[in-house]
Amino acid sequence: MRNGEKRSNFECVAVRPASFECVAANPGEIQTVNGPILPGHAGITMIHEHLMVDLTCYCHSPQAAHEKSLVKAPVSLKTLTWIRRNYTSNLDNLTLDEPDLAVEELLEFKYAGGGTIVDAGNIGLGRDPKALQRIADASGLNIVMGAGYYVHQSHPANMDEISEEAICGEIVADVRDGVGSDRIRAGLIGELGCSWPMHPNEQKVLRAGAKAQKATGAPISVHVGLHRESPHQIAQILDRAGADLSRVALCHMDREAPANIERLVELCKMGCYLEFDAFGMDTWDFPDAPNYPQAPIDRITDAQRVELIVRLADKGHLDRIVVSHDIAYKMRLKKFGGSGYDHILSVCVPIMRRKGLGDAEMRKILIENPVRLLTFA
Ligand SMILES: [Zn+2]
Repeated sequence: MRNGEKRSNFECVAVRPASFECVAANPGEIQTVNGPILPGHAGITMIHEHLMVDLTCYCHSPQAAHEKSLVKAPVSLKTLTWIRRNYTSNLDNLTLDEPDLAVEELLEFKYAGGGTIVDAGNIGLGRDPKALQRIADASGLNIVMGAGYYVHQSHPANMDEISEEAICGEIVADVRDGVGSDRIRAGLIGELGCSWPMHPNEQKVLRAGAKAQKATGAPISVHVGLHRESPHQIAQILDRAGADLSRVALCHMDREAPANIERLVELCKMGCYLEFDAFGMDTWDFPDAPNYPQAPIDRITDAQRVELIVRLADKGHLDRIVVSHDIAYKMRLKKFGGSGYDHILSVCVPIMRRKGLGDAEMRKILIENPVRLLTFA
């Protein structure tokens, strides 16, 4: 351990092959951008992050003249207060495109005890296999990459003409053979993007994802729409299309306040993993919510997130809980005043312990559950 490095409460070492092995993951293995690893080598795992991302599909320009220039302004101390209140209206904030910066930020996660990180980006989110491999090499972390399509705003112009079978075939190829000529393989079908109301092409992608899961044994994760019925709608569509719901993670289940715990329990009983993936997102509203019908008003806080996890644990559903930060905005990196990729390990775990979650519970949330989810069937 170097001077100044933090050690977490967990003994955990990231182990990955010394050289890139050009083989696909077998059942019982996790597929990283540097080849398959055994579940026992994953360690503490963040199930939903973004290391390289282009979220500019969400960018909407403010109406006021004096704010329009801020859309193209770089994230800086001068612009940060405005950006934090309008985080989907600044192009620089919606882009993570510096591998070296990603490594710098990720080392904080590694020094806090982290072993594996999922970049949930896929087509439409600026997925960047080569950069992810470079970040994995430089950081020594296991990195898992996504496949499939994000929300309809990011779909290609000809998405109406692309068939469900073609999308399924593309996902299967990304998992089995790898993406493009570099042949770097995806280890997750996700985050598949869904809106509220759901766009027909998003539904098509969901069904294709379910079929691709059957063909590959890969796990699925789904970005849910901004409405409390969206997760149930998604689970039903996946179920009807033949997905194994016990290998599906529903993202952003900790987004709106107040949370409806009984509805969350229903999803657990269907077998889905619930992602509490906005730890460290300390804004309290949804600036673009007025654009979405019946969107929630308030965001949940970290304290409420922990409270929800404790309540679900008390009800016997801790096996279905996974946590992450879903960092996809520059303002969330430490360099720009954010809490970074180690926030859960450095800040939240001690709070969870004080609220009664012990070693066994922490192990489930941070290691066993995400590792079980990522392991190919
Ligand atoms: Zn995400």
